[in-house]
Amino acid sequence: MKRVLVYLDEDAVEDSIDLLEVGRLMYGTQVFCSYALAAGVRYGEAGNLFDHVFRVKNGTLPNYDTAALARCIEFLHRIYNFDAIIIPATHCGRMIAPRAAMRLHAGLVADVTGIGTNGDEILMVRPAFSGRMLATVVCRGGGPVMMSARPRAFTYGEPVLKSAEFIDIDAQDMKTPGIRLIERREKSEERDIRTSEVLISGGGGVIRDFHLLERLAEALHGMVAASRKVVDMGKAQRSIQVGQSGKIVSPRLYIALGISGSAQHVAGIRNAEYIISVNTNRQAPICSMSDIVVEGDSRAFVEGLLKRMEASNTQTSGDQKR
Ligand SMILES: Cc1cc2nc3c(=O)[nH]c(=O)nc-3n(C[C@H](O)[C@H](O)[C@H](O)COP(=O)(O)OP(=O)(O)OC[C@H]3O[C@@H](n4cnc5c(N)ncnc54)[C@H](O)[C@@H]3O)c2cc1C
Repeated sequence: MKRVLVYLDEDAVEDSIDLLEVGRLMYGTQVFCSYALAAGVRYGEAGNLFDHVFRVKNGTLPNYDTAALARCIEFLHRIYNFDAIIIPATHCGRMIAPRAAMRLHAGLVADVTGIGTNGDEILMVRPAFSGRMLATVVCRGGGPVMMSARPRAFTYGEPVLKSAEFIDIDAQDMKTPGIRLIERREKSEERDIRTSEVLISGGGGVIRDFHLLERLAEALHGMVAASRKVVDMGKAQRSIQVGQSGKIVSPRLYIALGISGSAQHVAGIRNAEYIISVNTNRQAPICSMSDIVVEGDSRAFVEGLLKRMEASNTQTSGDQKR
């Protein structure tokens, strides 16, 4: 019988449990025995879905101590010899998976979104080239099949109810000395640029005037976005970066201010319906893919547009009064 270990990320327990579906797709329900590593306090939820649940004796291994968790996975594998080790591709999971794979001298397929089989071979599907293609990785040979799987890519739809055996493990010696939680800050719930129909996006050519973009975004009921250059220079948050290593957006209107249009940036705006670019250099790559190109200074453009909008608003409200 195949043995499958799933790491339960304390911050994403439900998504982690859903990874039982990966085991089912690989081996079929009847022929795999499921193990959960629940290093935090939320092991109860796994109790009626897994065959065995490992929990840590005398405390927990926090999910941010990724080196300790990798050591713990290695320790368990040496005893139980798993056929597959599945880790959710959460923030912490993405750090645990390569560390564990390195310790086990196993290959790792990261960010898996689909599973198939071909005889004895396991086929793992994952996005490649910024999500523009799907790559299928064939797993051959021995060693555990190791993967990190994208949260919510799999749903454990028809759960098989079990009554787990809880196994306490002593992991105190595995903890990394000096790693402790100093402060936990919840991320404020901010709107996602992918939901906005209008994006006012700034790049290297508008860095000094980046603050002005917020006014234009407000006037056009849109949101501010940025190229990586602005983010790397600390003028904007990573969460509003557009492009290959940022977000892929599909607004109705994308206004690109002082953005050159590198391949990595353009990878994020291919689905934009209408692009207006403002650039001092009309040979900049972004101009060739824009519906309207304004050759000139971004600051002058933003200020001019705001002035005209304010003027037309004043005139409209005057007309209404008459
Ligand atoms: C692996 C990898 C991943 C990457 N991922 C991303 C990504 O996700 N997103 C991303 O954006 N980049 C990404 N990059 C970086 C990318 O290669 C470019 O370096 C970056 O996009 C350049 O940003 P920019 O066009 O804003 O700045 P610049 O290259 O500095 O271009 C500035 C532009 O503004 C114009 N300009 C200058 N002054 C003015 C002015 N006063 N008014 C109007 N226009 C003006 C210039 O003519 C120029 O076209 C990635 C790079 C790598 C290697």
